[in-house]
Amino acid sequence: MENYRKKSPSRSESGRSKIAVKEQKTVKKCAVRIIPLGGLNEIGKNITLYECGNDIVIVDCGLAFPDSEMLGVDLVIPDFTYIERNADKIRGVVLTHGHEDHIGSLAYLLKKVNTPVYGTRLTLGLVQSKLEEHGVTAKLSVVKPKQRISLGCMEVEFINVNHSIPDSVALAIHTPTGVLIHTGDFKVDYTPINGDPIDLARFGELGSKGVLALLSESTNAERSGYTPTEHLVGESFEKLFAKAEDRRIIIATFSSNIHRVQQIINCAVKYKRKVAIFGRSMINVVKTATELGYLNVPDGVIIDIDMMDRFTAEEIVLITTGSQGEPMSALTRMAMNDHKKVNINCNDLIIISATPIPGNEKYVTKVVNELMKSGAEVIYEKMYDVHVSGHANQEELKLMLALTKPKFFIPIHGEFKHLMRHAKIAQEMGVDPNNALVAQIGNVIEINGDTMRVVSQAPAGRVLVDGLGVGDVGSIVLRDRKHLAQDGLIIVVIAIEKASHSLVSGPDLISRGFVYVRESEELMDEARHILADALKNCMPDEFREWSVLKMKMKDVLSDYIFTKTKRTPMILPIIMEI
Ligand SMILES: [Zn+2]
Ligand SMILES: [Zn+2]
Repeated sequence: MENYRKKSPSRSESGRSKIAVKEQKTVKKCAVRIIPLGGLNEIGKNITLYECGNDIVIVDCGLAFPDSEMLGVDLVIPDFTYIERNADKIRGVVLTHGHEDHIGSLAYLLKKVNTPVYGTRLTLGLVQSKLEEHGVTAKLSVVKPKQRISLGCMEVEFINVNHSIPDSVALAIHTPTGVLIHTGDFKVDYTPINGDPIDLARFGELGSKGVLALLSESTNAERSGYTPTEHLVGESFEKLFAKAEDRRIIIATFSSNIHRVQQIINCAVKYKRKVAIFGRSMINVVKTATELGYLNVPDGVIIDIDMMDRFTAEEIVLITTGSQGEPMSALTRMAMNDHKKVNINCNDLIIISATPIPGNEKYVTKVVNELMKSGAEVIYEKMYDVHVSGHANQEELKLMLALTKPKFFIPIHGEFKHLMRHAKIAQEMGVDPNNALVAQIGNVIEINGDTMRVVSQAPAGRVLVDGLGVGDVGSIVLRDRKHLAQDGLIIVVIAIEKASHSLVSGPDLISRGFVYVRESEELMDEARHILADALKNCMPDEFREWSVLKMKMKDVLSDYIFTKTKRTPMILPIIMEI
């Protein structure tokens, strides 16, 4: 705070009258800006900027997975334009936990802006291996709950919370204007698998001193009651291990759910089974978590998948990725009979220990069907309590509001309906309706002590990553991909002689994804004739203007194809000059 006060007015202010300068300073001194660049009205790519004076702190830097419209896109990252423009103000990135939707785009950010990164030990352990994959280096500083770090005029305090990955924290951001609380993802678990229960006392303490604004996650804002403890899943696993008898057990879950993996390992030890791990991300996370001491695995319990043959079905548990039915995942390949090491049969008990993320239901259903066709027993969704959420339900969200008693409230981390529901909960809890804001990404939200309003708009949106290309797949490329995927392609090739501007060969037609050529010879032949006739009637001038010629070929062909088939394939004319 002291540092901040000493700062002189910027050069742009020096030309104005003294009164204006004074006013400007006063406004600046007591205003903090919050700029969500992702995570609102969407699932994923969470990133929020806190800006005060000349300092910006970035909270989280996540990715989102493409929806079915984004053909061929690998992942989606936030638009970093605002950060790049204000690179000199960035004091650091602070991470709440190690999930992809909070750390997944960090490597892409660090390629553009070099800034220190703060997070708990496990979070940074997971970040480290990601940065290595990308060949990016950064200064990583490990922090602990209750610790405070200074970033410009702000101090960031870390508060322990429970979530589906260990070492998750909420943040109290102490600014000259007041305290802002950013919950990150959280739930209340009084009996967590490892670590301490959420530090409710600290939230209460901050609340009694006065919290200016609360930014709280909204994932489960529509779900009533409390989220059950993770221990409940352990109890279900116990029952299912007992029921499995001489069968092989296969359990699919999120690779980052280390608590869940720990509980599977505990059961395996108890029932004298060996554990084999499948899926690249699962292997990576188990390795990092074991090295850092977040996963307690007795020697000899985990075996290499090549060793599985040495054990009988009743001596084995497989832990695998693919709980969302992801097409390339180990479980999906097992279900499709496409896995080199595992053949599903009637001697398998398969547990899908996760709930499908909205949009993934049909993939999961397909996997369940295929596994069942192979004769396996499949336990999924609510059949037993084989999954609990890592996010706070309504009563826990209310608890957070009751403890922190914020003046202003901004729901984050959710689709629009979740944010709206959470804003309503806040109002029921006594937050002034004018002080609860359902924001959009890119909104520059200014809080100056008494008021909160959106003052401007920063560039925000989605940047698509396809292979090594970042941002080069835009709406036009996607439109073409969709067109190709839905209607296929016809390539028309002609050759014209340079000197005489006359047609010397063609038109030849090549198609892909349009019709099966062998069964549609008549159609394609007629198309070729119609095109040839149209070209015969072309004036020599038209053979000079290639763009006109191409347009003509496209029009003639698409008219014919549409009349005959009611389809609109993409038509690509190619002219060769000889
Ligand atoms: Zn999370
Ligand atoms: Zn999240």
